[in-house]
Amino acid sequence: MPKQVAAYGTRAPNAPLESMTIERRDPTPHDVGIDILYCGICHSDLHKVRNDWGSTHYPIVPGHEIVGRVAALGSEASRYQKGDLVGVGCLVDSCRVCPACKAGREMFCEQGATISFDSLEKGRDSWTYGGYSTSMVVDERYVLRMPKGLDPAKAAPLLCGGITTYSPLRQFGCGPGVSVAVVGLGGLGHLAVKLAASMGAEVTVISTSRAKERDAARMGARHFIATGEHGALTTDGARFDLILDTVSGPHDVDALVGALRNFGTLALVGLPGQGAPVDATELVHGNKRVAGSNIGGIPETQEMLDYCGERRVVADIETIPASQINEAYKRMDRGDVRYRFVIDLASIRDDGT
Ligand code: NAP
Ligand code: ZN
Ligand code: ZN
Repeated sequence: MPKQVAAYGTRAPNAPLESMTIERRDPTPHDVGIDILYCGICHSDLHKVRNDWGSTHYPIVPGHEIVGRVAALGSEASRYQKGDLVGVGCLVDSCRVCPACKAGREMFCEQGATISFDSLEKGRDSWTYGGYSTSMVVDERYVLRMPKGLDPAKAAPLLCGGITTYSPLRQFGCGPGVSVAVVGLGGLGHLAVKLAASMGAEVTVISTSRAKERDAARMGARHFIATGEHGALTTDGARFDLILDTVSGPHDVDALVGALRNFGTLALVGLPGQGAPVDATELVHGNKRVAGSNIGGIPETQEMLDYCGERRVVADIETIPASQINEAYKRMDRGDVRYRFVIDLASIRDDGT
């Protein structure tokens, strides 16, 4: 019997999120049933709810930074035990046999990966619902083991924000002696600063104003640039080996390319609805690279979680009840996030609304 579960979602792009009931399947043999404790709010949830990318199917229940406890096991599920603290990120299924899946890059599955929310489920004609809900059922292959000793609410944002920044930092050579700039000090950006600093890089934050300067220093940034100040990016010349751009809205990408050293890389992870045009001359005169990076596969996500467990890297969060999601979206929309909202799902489990 499918289970009725309390959730928060919306039925139209301009409607607020509201309490709703959704169905979760009975665990099939390799499934794990998870009671969700916390779910982070990523800007991608907001893009999706508003249909910024033009692909949203309604009703939608967002949420892909999920931490919970194993509450049920399918008959052949063997990787976890009841009571284990586990995580679920963006990926909940893929074909498992294509070269991308075999390489642990399930997000590039040739059959198309199934995302934890707003994704058509394989072999079923139903859509996935995400972590703004009290429980979910996921194949054990896509469930992550949470490291011991981390606060589960603060660790939830690692499931998307953490892997989306860890992966490009590793891919593009972050390490001791490397000059790294992080653009946008929001959910992804603040984790990028902590991770890059933990890897030994000299970190600069590039933010729209000086409002977050002190926080940036506390997180490990050595320098701070406020783009709202005239000539801010050009004063010190081109000095970055790697720039990680986490900005969610329209901004000047060429100016960032201009701040790269020769052979430097601008890695884009932010996904503004509008494009990000780049001047070829800026790239050619300096052998510079513009790259992109899309979350990370299951093995790399586990590697990132284990790394964060060892280094004690977690998010700075504001924990909210589900009833405050709409207010949190408004604040995130105006850049007023310090630095990730995390929903405490006990807020809808307790009162049953
Ligand atoms: P967030 O918490 O809202 O942070 C975004 C930050 O970007 C803001 O805090 C602000 O930082 C800056 N910003 C926003 N609009 C700006 C503008 N128009 N010009 C300049 N700066 C601006 O968002 P997030 O959750 O970190 O997500 C960031 C982006 O990454 C989103 O587009 C999201 O969809 C995308 N994303 C991509 C992946 C992937 O796989 N590649 C995964 C997750 C999310 P300051 O206050 O410092 O200026
Ligand atoms: Zn995300
Ligand atoms: Zn595949």
